[in-house]
Amino acid sequence: KNLHRKGESFIPTHCSYCGMQCGMNIRVDDATGNVVGIEPRYEWPVNQGRLCPKGVTAYQQVEHPDRILRPLIKRNGKFIEASWEEAYDLIERKFKEIATKYGKDALGVYGGVSMTNEKCYLVGKYARVALGTKHIDYNGRYCMSSAAGGFNATLGMDRGSTLPWPDLLHSDCFFLAGSNTAECHPTSITWFWRGRDRGAKLIVADPRETPTARIADVHLDLKPGTDSALANGIAHILIKEGYVDNEYVAQRVNGFEDLEKMVERFTPEYTSRLTGVAQEKIIKAAHMYGEAEKSVVMFARGVEQQRKGVDNVGSYTNLALIRGQIGKFASGVATFTGQGNGQGGREHGQKADLLPGYRKLTEPKAVQYISQVWGIDPAEMPGPGVSAYEMLDSIHQGTVRAMHVICSNPAVSSPNAQHVWKALEKLEFLVVNDFFLSETAEFADVVLPTTTWAEDEGTTTNTEGRVIKINQIRKPAGESKPDWQILSEIAARMDRGKHFEYENAEQIFNELRVASKGGKADYYGITYEKIEKQQGVFWPCPDLDHPGTPYVYQDSFPTPDGKANLRVVDWQEAGEIQSKEFPEILTTGRVVFHYLSGNQTRRIDFLMEKCPEPYAEMHPEMASKYNLQDGEEVELETRRAKMKLKVRLTKAIRKDTVFVPYHWGKELSINQLTNPCLDPVSRMPEFKVCAVRLRKS
Ligand code: SF4
Repeated sequence: KNLHRKGESFIPTHCSYCGMQCGMNIRVDDATGNVVGIEPRYEWPVNQGRLCPKGVTAYQQVEHPDRILRPLIKRNGKFIEASWEEAYDLIERKFKEIATKYGKDALGVYGGVSMTNEKCYLVGKYARVALGTKHIDYNGRYCMSSAAGGFNATLGMDRGSTLPWPDLLHSDCFFLAGSNTAECHPTSITWFWRGRDRGAKLIVADPRETPTARIADVHLDLKPGTDSALANGIAHILIKEGYVDNEYVAQRVNGFEDLEKMVERFTPEYTSRLTGVAQEKIIKAAHMYGEAEKSVVMFARGVEQQRKGVDNVGSYTNLALIRGQIGKFASGVATFTGQGNGQGGREHGQKADLLPGYRKLTEPKAVQYISQVWGIDPAEMPGPGVSAYEMLDSIHQGTVRAMHVICSNPAVSSPNAQHVWKALEKLEFLVVNDFFLSETAEFADVVLPTTTWAEDEGTTTNTEGRVIKINQIRKPAGESKPDWQILSEIAARMDRGKHFEYENAEQIFNELRVASKGGKADYYGITYEKIEKQQGVFWPCPDLDHPGTPYVYQDSFPTPDGKANLRVVDWQEAGEIQSKEFPEILTTGRVVFHYLSGNQTRRIDFLMEKCPEPYAEMHPEMASKYNLQDGEEVELETRRAKMKLKVRLTKAIRKDTVFVPYHWGKELSINQLTNPCLDPVSRMPEFKVCAVRLRKS
């Protein structure tokens, strides 16, 4: 604790929003204990003194008048403040009633990854031990699951980055696919600016000329849904023109001959026809990437939120593998984590099919080990459940009857939103933990007030795979409690209290360390003390005297034969393609001023002034087909729903594509229109592509 100004203390912590987890100091008024401001941390290696508009205003959440300060119970359609005892009495009665009547799997748990590792770990344990249900999944299913699937298939492990990001300063070429990093991970754009200042090349694949694409040496303006065709086309040129690192491939990679055969037909001409990108640009990008000594391929939701998201991730990863770039300094492959703890939140057992440490629920040894850590009989461990959207959908069939949503807002973030709203309405009982009343919480029977990031401590794992420490800044506002405490207290009401006897977050972290030991995401050697001392610790870190692993795959890959596996996949159309009836493409995404479903950022005046509502961004040529002018209202309609939005004209988008940001709920939610078509491996919905028609309204 550093006394910086008279009457104020500075407490170091990290931004609560995106996966950069930028270092920041929180200013606290010593007299009141209130949070009064934020300043960046210059010594923190990832942001080095930079913060984006969301980061600099994040502190305004903490003392915000919209905070929920006491439990709420809905009576006659209205929320009434209640005591914790009243709320717990009701939850215990309803959960027990429903479990007795329909079985424990009628209870569903829907988690999130804007929570600490400790909380994410406990959500998985809570579902399986306290409620005894197999129905658990989380919002990362909509965010990171295709990256996870793609990395597991090719590299044998799901760590979102193979290198620490300060290394980017020394890379010679960046290939960013489906990532508008300038808006979505703003402080990271400086790595690319600084790289370019020393001569590095930047290639951006994106249907829009985003602020990131605008500074690129080559902008590959591909048609939404054609990523694996583009990656296969680049692989074709790399192979044909002798850019393959033959020694690396022979020693460390499986499947090269199959890939060579498959990409044979992806000539520049064929690739251009599929993707809509000019041949010269494809060739130029391949040469740029192929000639770089140290290069990094990075991608995000643009590539992943497709029905072939896993294949897309695999196809782009192929490029780094055939160039021999993985496991080397300033080279590799990475995904930009969307949510603050998108990396850690997927490692500790919130996923429908995984236990802590990335252990699989289908492996008896894994079940045996975790059961022993949790002190339960392995026979009690529920089996794998279903993915987030499938769990919400199953409410319509009466499979899930009650749900506990923790730190998530599926009413806004789910595709085919009206279908999801009807499901939430149908639930016999819904509990929501949150610190602001989200659109999902409005459907709830009970809302439990949780602490913000500033009122509890714990760890998160940033987009690099670096485990960092979130520090408690002030005492919990009103009667709010940390989620781990709420889950432990409900567990006691469900007669499972002896498995949840924690006094603080660190005790949970120490249990998580043991639970992860021997798994792929091994945290055993990480302690709060080591995190502080080392400016974060990269997993895997299997022993207390281990320094952590900033560089993964230096000598081998965690696969049965130690080699990476190229993903040899042909290109496939999006789940929904343009037709006479729906002649244009709809794609969705983010803007710099908002985070995820907007439940936090829509309450910050400055951010709302800058971007108060969604809009339909389109090319003037598309607009003129429908006789639309800038600022006029357009009706967008897909096979699922329709909605009206203001037109925003720009030449920085393909002429066949409409873009709408997704941070708003109810009638402003673009997810009413998106397609719930799921990737067969990751079960990620296809937010990035669907067919739409336009009408001047
Ligand atoms: Fe926060 Fe991300 Fe902005 Fe950094 S880049 S300040 S972590 S929102």
